Amino acid sequence: MGVEVSDAMALAPAPGARTAHRREFEANKLRKRLRRQVGEAIADYAMIEAGDRVMVCVSGGKDSYGLLDILVSLRQRSPVPFDIIAVNLDQKHPGFPAEVLPGYLAGRNIAYRIEEQDTYSVVKRVIPEGGTMCSLCSRLRRGVLYRVAGEVGATKIALGHHRDDILATFFLNLFFGGKLKTMPPKLTSDDGKHIVIRPLAYVRERDLARYADAMAFPIIPCDLCGSQENLQRKQVGAMLREWEKKYPGRVETIFNALGKVVTTHLLDRQLQDFSAIRAAGLPLPDGDIAFDDDPCTTQPLPAMIRLEPFDER
Ligand code: SF4
Repeated sequence: MGVEVSDAMALAPAPGARTAHRREFEANKLRKRLRRQVGEAIADYAMIEAGDRVMVCVSGGKDSYGLLDILVSLRQRSPVPFDIIAVNLDQKHPGFPAEVLPGYLAGRNIAYRIEEQDTYSVVKRVIPEGGTMCSLCSRLRRGVLYRVAGEVGATKIALGHHRDDILATFFLNLFFGGKLKTMPPKLTSDDGKHIVIRPLAYVRERDLARYADAMAFPIIPCDLCGSQENLQRKQVGAMLREWEKKYPGRVETIFNALGKVVTTHLLDRQLQDFSAIRAAGLPLPDGDIAFDDDPCTTQPLPAMIRLEPFDER
């Protein structure tokens, strides 16, 4: 017996329910991808070991909410037992909604500590009116977080930097610092006492933004102080977004290249003892190819990596 049109309409979900269902489906798909990428990064860089107490620094921004959420869900499935404690620094910015994070963390049953320290007044006192406060603000924040890490017995400090932060930092160092370096997925802190990890190293910023939206995280903007984001970082971010739009794949290629460094093909005398180079008479796959161009520069460039002068707007 066929289904009459009116019956079929009664059986089909209402448009509102359909949209909600679609959103739920998309959020699940995204959650799976984020879990996979974070899991891979943790494994690739040996970020978390059995018995670790991971202090997740939560600012109230989309990235740190995403980091915490994904780590919590990975911990539930992980064969490696580890602990999580969320830490937020309340820097006493005017208008900081101090109740938001404790409410969220308690609601999710996540152990947390809110550290109150008025670094805002220090920054205001030291930086002249109109100056960019972010670098001093971050430095002070780092000092407090290192201290708290010791107090809560953290063995790892997890930060919410993602793939695009890593790339932007690489280009900032290249363009303005004259160095080939970026934020690594795992490194000892500059005071030598802690291990800092970046489990979102493989995650794209736009996925974190979509995830925050889907999860309706109670976002606290990091501009309560009215300070502006570093202008150079903004420019580099815009450059990367433009590349991503105009040349799909280029940004991915650059990110992958950061994990395939051929130290013998650079000029750093710290990495290579040039005075010790001897010809051993055996073919070397990575040896010099004299007058030939490198094979990867002689192949026709696909559109995605065709170079154009950098527009420094
Ligand atoms: S925007 Fe404000 S709170 Fe955020 S890092 Fe800069 S100075 Fe600090």
